[in-house]
Amino acid sequence: MSTTLAFIGLGHMGGPMAANLAKAGHRVLGFDLVPELVAAAAAAGVEPAASAVSAAAEADVVVTMLPAGRHVLSLYGEQGLLAAARPGTLFVDCSTIDVADARAAHEAVVAAGHRGLDAPVSGGVVGAEAATLTFMAGGGAEEFAAAEPLLGAMGRKVVHCGGPGAGQAAKICNNLILAVSMIGVSEAFVLAESLGLDHQALYDVASTASGQCWALTVNCPVPGPVPTSPANRAYRPGFAAPLMAKDLGLAANALRAGGVDAPLALKAAAMYTAFAEGAGAELDFSAIVRTLRPVEADPNGASA
Ligand code: NAD
Repeated sequence: MSTTLAFIGLGHMGGPMAANLAKAGHRVLGFDLVPELVAAAAAAGVEPAASAVSAAAEADVVVTMLPAGRHVLSLYGEQGLLAAARPGTLFVDCSTIDVADARAAHEAVVAAGHRGLDAPVSGGVVGAEAATLTFMAGGGAEEFAAAEPLLGAMGRKVVHCGGPGAGQAAKICNNLILAVSMIGVSEAFVLAESLGLDHQALYDVASTASGQCWALTVNCPVPGPVPTSPANRAYRPGFAAPLMAKDLGLAANALRAGGVDAPLALKAAAMYTAFAEGAGAELDFSAIVRTLRPVEADPNGASA
């Protein structure tokens, strides 16, 4: 069944996601503040809209893919999206935002007589282009059922995680595990170097022992053991360090709001923030390994 969608935010992720919805036969009215992005989406089958409000007024479903919670809340509220939409419109926010902002957005959606779902993604730009994203959804069963086939046109896996905000919660909990495990794996390789233990030997043991994890076996932070990992291409992302820093900032906000004591997550957030603001600004998050050893001891040879 063809649905009319408004798609707001046609950046690195939103552009290819909107294109995949159009490719699946839906009518997609696209808008971004950057005209060049609207033009690029139009070339991929998206109908250019004059504004976010005009797109939302015509749509059955409004998808947003924006940088942060403040963009979503402002667009929904002061910028008039909720007021312009027809009653009962389904608002699906795919941006990665604070759990508290996702819940506030959901309340605003419902108060305006609409339906809402938070549905952040994992899989990066490659997944957005190939329609292989994983969606983590938060909201009611009826909203999830309505959105599932549309999300399925942009991704490979769609998981209903619970009520409003549960999708964002799943996203930041997963990335907390990833950040802490990446730092742990990196520290182990640096310790191995100081003990004269070969990277490959540590990999051969840990990858089949209890140290096994994604950070080691897929995104290995040192070149060699996993040929496809970013470490083998000068740490070109992959998953860029600033995006990891952003997600850890959201996790830190949620930890503080909930009074949860998680010292490793907070330490990882501080490390990734410093790295993303400095040498890691354009590198994969696995390049954090470089901050753990003195520059002159970096066996990869390159300076960040
Ligand atoms: P991006 O900056 O490339 O795209 C965001 C777009 O939103 C921009 O083009 C911007 O012009 C547009 N925008 C901002 N305010 C707007 C408004 N009021 N109206 C219309 N357009 C507006 O960012 P991205 O990399 O596409 O990421 C989008 C979201 O997805 C973020 O929340 C990010 O954390 C999340 N995410 C990104 C990745 C990734 O690998 N890039 C992976 C998973 C999740």
